[in-house]
Amino acid sequence: KVRVRFAPSPTGGLHLGGVRTVLFNYLFAKKHHGDFILRIEDTDQTRYVEGAEEYILDCLKWCGLQPDESPVAGGQFAPYRQSERKAIYREYAERLVMQGHAYYAFDTAEELDKNRKEIPNFQYGQVYRKSLRNSISLPQHEVDALLDAGTPHVIRIKMPADETISFMDMIRGHVSFETNLVDDKVLLKADGMPTYHLAVVVDDFLMKISHAFRGEEWLPSAPVHLLLWEYLGWKNQMPQWAHLPLILKPDGHGKLSKRDGDRLGFPVYAMNWFDAKSGDLTAGFRELGFLPEAFLNLLATLGWNDGTDREIFTLDELIEKFSLERVSKAGAKFDFEKAKWFNAEWIKKLDAESLAPKVKTILEDKGITVADEDYLLAVINLVKDRCVLLPDFYTQAAYFFEQPKEYDLNAVKPKWTDAKTDFFNALTALLNSSETALEAHGFEAQFKTLMEEKALKAGDVMLPFRIMLVGGKFGPHVFDIAAQLGRTETVSRMAKALT
Ligand code: GLU
Repeated sequence: KVRVRFAPSPTGGLHLGGVRTVLFNYLFAKKHHGDFILRIEDTDQTRYVEGAEEYILDCLKWCGLQPDESPVAGGQFAPYRQSERKAIYREYAERLVMQGHAYYAFDTAEELDKNRKEIPNFQYGQVYRKSLRNSISLPQHEVDALLDAGTPHVIRIKMPADETISFMDMIRGHVSFETNLVDDKVLLKADGMPTYHLAVVVDDFLMKISHAFRGEEWLPSAPVHLLLWEYLGWKNQMPQWAHLPLILKPDGHGKLSKRDGDRLGFPVYAMNWFDAKSGDLTAGFRELGFLPEAFLNLLATLGWNDGTDREIFTLDELIEKFSLERVSKAGAKFDFEKAKWFNAEWIKKLDAESLAPKVKTILEDKGITVADEDYLLAVINLVKDRCVLLPDFYTQAAYFFEQPKEYDLNAVKPKWTDAKTDFFNALTALLNSSETALEAHGFEAQFKTLMEEKALKAGDVMLPFRIMLVGGKFGPHVFDIAAQLGRTETVSRMAKALT
């Protein structure tokens, strides 16, 4: 059975790349009728950030990518938080020591620091060994004595010399590494917590993970993990690996970072993130007014396509079309303008009913009362094609709910004539002459007849009319606006603007 996992460390907000990893996991799992597991990798207590786990859960909820098993949902392999699994890992680390594939290392922090300062390119272990791997040469009784005395220690993998380790990556194909270039990574820390390297292997095994997706930045660690799978005797159950391409800066030079977002003025986090230390707020896609549908759609296209020019996909369509063969090895450039384009397309695509709750919140947050749902739906339909981000619904629709406070009439005033005043008075009388609902087409015809009677051109009166209703020179077809506002309101706005 296909079982995949998203395994974030709760060290901060979830950025673009993280959510894309979730999405690819999810698509793959759902496509193969498998399970999607969320595992919290919180073994590094020094990098643990309060609130980050809740943030991750909220984020998955917002995106609609709910895990089948998680710390909250539970599941047959619970617990799903590595800190709660602490007792499990030591046994495996000790097994590796007994087999001679790992060893106790008693180096103090000062010794390690000193090495780092004195030895260029210091790496603990094989190639740059120098004075390191001290305890490997200690006789067993000395190691035992140190352990009995409670001497602080870690357990490190003993990287073998002169071996080539290779594996088939589902995206990158054949990948290989020289063991001489890999250092002796810590597996179990002095506090008894496993490092990522040990925990990821043990948990992927125990949780029966079949396919493991992670960012390309983890590729250099793969040889350590492959050896652990082998040494622990689980090689046949090793998941198939897929290292996902990096998301690059807009110019393609290097990995996209949070700082690029700050510098270039776009979000990199899925949702607002308050940095625990600085208290700084980094804006998220959600709060900027992205729809989750659009966010997922744009993430899917960062490193994947369906083999055609098509760009807009629903989640169900993505599940149907997704295939690893079409995930590229090359990094994918992030383009914020393109991201906004996705959102605009999704606003066009969704019907007014689906948008209504979000638009209502946006309007109400700005102090507008939305009393009539049908009126709101009609307004959404009139303006949705003009909105890129959700807050644009305020700019584009506020005037349907409240009279303009200011008019951009300066643009038309210098050319004002008595004939125009005359026209608007006649238009007012015409509107007042009936009580039937104002209908755009009929009204447009009447408007134009009146225009001809007064020997005026569209250029003379259409723009002023729009400004009277809207306050500015924007918005949909002006007769649609008038019809939506209704006779009384249209007349009232004309009167207000003309005084
Ligand atoms: N805990 C790792 C991270 O935060 C996960 C890597 C993996 O998926 O194996 O990126």
